[in-house]
Amino acid sequence: MAYQPVIDLSTGIMVSVEALLRWNHPERGAIAPVEFIPIAEETGLIVPIGAWMLEQACGQLVAWQRIRRSQPGESPLTVAVNLSVRQLLTSDVAHLLRGVLSDTGVDPADVCLELTESVFMEDVDFFGRALAGLKALGVTLAIDDFGTGYSSLSYLKRFPVDAVKVDRVFVDGLGTDPHDTALVAAIVAMAGALELDVTAEGVETVEQLTELKALGVRRAQGYLLARPMAADGITQLVTTAHRWGVAGI
Ligand code: C2E
Ligand code: CA
Ligand code: CA
Repeated sequence: MAYQPVIDLSTGIMVSVEALLRWNHPERGAIAPVEFIPIAEETGLIVPIGAWMLEQACGQLVAWQRIRRSQPGESPLTVAVNLSVRQLLTSDVAHLLRGVLSDTGVDPADVCLELTESVFMEDVDFFGRALAGLKALGVTLAIDDFGTGYSSLSYLKRFPVDAVKVDRVFVDGLGTDPHDTALVAAIVAMAGALELDVTAEGVETVEQLTELKALGVRRAQGYLLARPMAADGITQLVTTAHRWGVAGI
């Protein structure tokens, strides 16, 4: 597993970490999630792997929050875990989540489940009920890769989502492509009207970061700030109360 920091752009403090799966094959080396996750989904292995991810991520979060509490100031930290459509279709994620929450003692409000837009394209009634069941446990829900899917915007009204993650394809041209700037501005305005949090993904340059701040985006994630790292790396950042120098940008 790897974890990637999400930074609050007004304070430079890490406010969340996204849990990301990794597979280090003994002979083939690192295999990208885009290669193996579809196979894990087809074979159904995503269900036990996903359960394990959720347990690990929540367990880690509790440990990091404990370190934070021993430090001066109140710096909340949350964790984001990716859920695939297949997990929702073939397993009782709410049941799993209830168990993990009680085993780890994590505050449900500190757990965010990231779902791609494909969830919202399928059976609206089924997924509406499934997501409502998850929400009822107190966790938050985010739409991942926002703007890249094909579903209608009406799902923002129909589903109980709390946040959107602006996909890297839009962040890419910020500061250079006026269309990308306009699109992100529109997403931010819409999210603001619907009271959804916005996180920008895939921030790689200072220009992108500057533009995001100017557009009022509060949270960002990307190689410029930090690459996904092993849990130890996050422990180090938490222990040293690391702050990113983004406040002045
Ligand atoms: P995602 O949820 O959109 O995750 C963000 C991806 O962007 C990660 O790729 C991350 O390493 C990469 N990334 C972060 N910052 C940058 C940047 O500045 N530039 C570039 N070029 N890339 C950046 P990763 O780890 O390869 O994961 C790919 C996808 O695999 C994820 O996309 C997610 O959809 C899926 N995935 C990963 N872990 C899990 C998991 O535990 N469960 C499920 N269901 N899906 C997962
Ligand atoms: Ca994600
Ligand atoms: Ca994403």
